[in-house]
Parts: sequence; C-alpha cells; structure tokens
Amino acid sequence: MSDCIFCKIINREIPATIVYEDDKVIAFNDISPAAPVHVLVIPKQHIDSVSQLNEENVRVLPDIYLAINKIAEKLGIKENGFRVIVNNGKDGGQVVYHLHFHLIGGKKLGSLIV
Ligand code: AMP
Ligand code: ZN
Repeated sequence: MSDCIFCKIINREIPATIVYEDDKVIAFNDISPAAPVHVLVIPKQHIDSVSQLNEENVRVLPDIYLAINKIAEKLGIKENGFRVIVNNGKDGGQVVYHLHFHLIGGKKLGSLIV
C-alpha cells in the first residue's frame, strides 16, 4: 500500500529505529512511547487490521508472536513480563491501518480494560 506509513517504514522510505526484522515481520520503536519499551511489531504483508484477517493471511500470526518473544528477550523484558495490545478499528482506537502489535514493558503496568 503506497500511502501506508508502516509500509513506508518496511520499504525504508521513512526512518524508524528497527529493533527486529525477518522475512515476514519487522519491529521498530513507537515514535510516542507509552513505557520504557514500546515496540510496534508488524507483518511485512500489508493487512489493514484484525478485522481483515482471513484463512490465508492469518498464518502470519505465529511469526508475529515468535518475533515478540525474541524481541522481549533481546530488550530484557521477557522475564519480568510485558503487554501486547492490538487496537482494531475506530472504537478500538486504531490510528494506523496496517496491522500492528504494541509490545509494551520495562515497568510495572497498570490494569487496563478501557
Ligand atoms: P494505533 O493507535 O494502535 O493505530 O497505534 C499507532 C501507533 O503508531 C501509535 O502508538 C503511534 O505513536 C505510532 N506511530 C505513528 N507513526 C509512527 C512512526 N512514523 N514511527 C513509529 N511509530 C509511529
Ligand atoms: Zn501497510
């Protein structure tokens, strides 16, 4: 998707601090971090949101979660724990419509429902 900012990060058209990359997944620091560690983990394939997952593209999810564990280990937050958040759609607070997983940690996080 040519007008997608996260596709532009994948294609190195706009800068980001990339903390992990493999053939299916890339991860970079959130530009506006909510905690000491705040990384966005995304599939290289453009998928708008959770709502757009289907029988084919859903297969990227294991790669995402394996990457999350590797990144958590690398950034030193695996042992103490972390939170993974996926916002979906307007009411879910999604702003960027390229599926992304917020990996947040590095401090004791508060309870969070809404
Ligand atoms: P969401 O509300 O789940 O769509 O989250 C979008 C996230 O993308 C926010 O936490 C933003 O701070 C982050 N973000 C937006 N633009 C960039 C960028 N160019 N580089 C890194 N993170 C970004
Ligand atoms: Zn995209």
